[in-house]
Amino acid sequence: MDKIKDGWFSEINALWPGQAMSLQVEEILFHEKSKFQDVIVFKSKTYGNVLVLDGVIQCTERDEFSYQEMLALIPLNSHPKPRKVLIIGGGDGGILREVIKHPDVEQVDQCEIDQMVIDVSKKYLPEMAESFSSPKLNLLVGDGFEFMKKHQGQYDVIITDSSDPVGPASTLFQKSYYELMKTALKPDGILACQGECLWLHLELIKGMLAFCRSLFPVSDYAFTTIPTYPSGQIGFVLCSKNPDTMFSTPVRELSTEDVAQMKLKYYNSDIHRAAFILPEFARKVLKTDTVENGNADQTHNGTN
Ligand code: SAM
Repeated sequence: MDKIKDGWFSEINALWPGQAMSLQVEEILFHEKSKFQDVIVFKSKTYGNVLVLDGVIQCTERDEFSYQEMLALIPLNSHPKPRKVLIIGGGDGGILREVIKHPDVEQVDQCEIDQMVIDVSKKYLPEMAESFSSPKLNLLVGDGFEFMKKHQGQYDVIITDSSDPVGPASTLFQKSYYELMKTALKPDGILACQGECLWLHLELIKGMLAFCRSLFPVSDYAFTTIPTYPSGQIGFVLCSKNPDTMFSTPVRELSTEDVAQMKLKYYNSDIHRAAFILPEFARKVLKTDTVENGNADQTHNGTN
């Protein structure tokens, strides 16, 4: 609560030293400590309701669609037939809402560590949480790292929608977690993970992509813009066990009618392709060993 002063919430955190996103608060709707983290929901003046975990903004009603649509649909539309999907984290329900929209998806398992996040999202973020009632969903409350140890060769797509690499999500940024995801995927499976910010965490991302290259034949990095994440941008780490995967070229092209019918507000097939084109300072560091592929490049790692 010390982060709310004079009616403004400021996201002060050592992960982004010397800067802080601030939102004007109209009303604090919820504040409790769960077993895992400090949970706040407040009504903001211009961004709708906002979920904050351990002082860090997780989503706002105004701009959440950018993150949810891109993290869900880039991997799903890079897979020829994504029938069985696993979501780790994602307690607000936004990724699930987007995954359910894909016509090939038959079953979604989701493992979120914190029941309190699910409960407050159902109450205060109903548009994000609307798909928790889907008959395709099998929801488990538990640690995603532990869940992954118990599942082998089951999933077409695994999406990790985690908070930042401190607190309960710290294990989800480690090489050992990617090794477990590789085992949990089917032989041609794909994964996508919250991949932090180019402006702030380039070295962390570089390290993650280095271990991804040692584990998967194909890995890549894409990003989206979003006003309320630090520096207005967040990225996604993508890996495939199938050497033929070309992440920057969607295997499922959406028509204008598809985009309207799926009620998409950020994702379309052009922005899918564009999300892989990095600014030069980041391309130089992250896209080593590149293979030219039309309008974007991608790393084929020479490993299986
Ligand atoms: N994309 C958002 C961001 O970067 O701010 C994150 C949204 S989502 C609310 C993140 C979720 O990951 C939280 O609900 C948190 O409880 C969950 N989480 C963190 N560590 C986890 C773990 N080890 N296993 C499963 N879920 C975890």
